[in-house]
Amino acid sequence: MHSAEHLLNGEMARRYGCGRAFSAHIERKKSKLDYHLPQAMTEEEIRSVEAFVNHVIDADVKVTEEFISQDEAKSRFDMSRLPEGASETVRVVHIGDYDECLCAGAHVAHTAEIGRFRITSSRYQDGVQRLVFKLDSK
Ligand SMILES: [Zn+2]
Repeated sequence: MHSAEHLLNGEMARRYGCGRAFSAHIERKKSKLDYHLPQAMTEEEIRSVEAFVNHVIDADVKVTEEFISQDEAKSRFDMSRLPEGASETVRVVHIGDYDECLCAGAHVAHTAEIGRFRITSSRYQDGVQRLVFKLDSK
């Protein structure tokens, strides 16, 4: 779930310039991510984002990590999410060339482990696009 979240966030930020989800509820069965968008995504756009995530899963790319200094991180990433008192060295998680972000969480070793990605519902209200997704084992 968490690794799928990385892929969805990376692609949403690339396509819409909306940044990564500002609110996330990641659970075992179903997860929700919220993005600030000026208008609702169409069904076609949602299926296109979903297809992208499944494409990366099918490509079975490696998930790798890299440790860099906070100073270097500041020049490469939005540091606003970094917790106070984070260590001098921070971890960057890469999913092939598709996504990189600062993260201390646990990830799959390669994307095929994620399973099948499905956006099961969406909602748009007051400038917030919510995407709900599930994973099915293949
Ligand atoms: Zn992560």
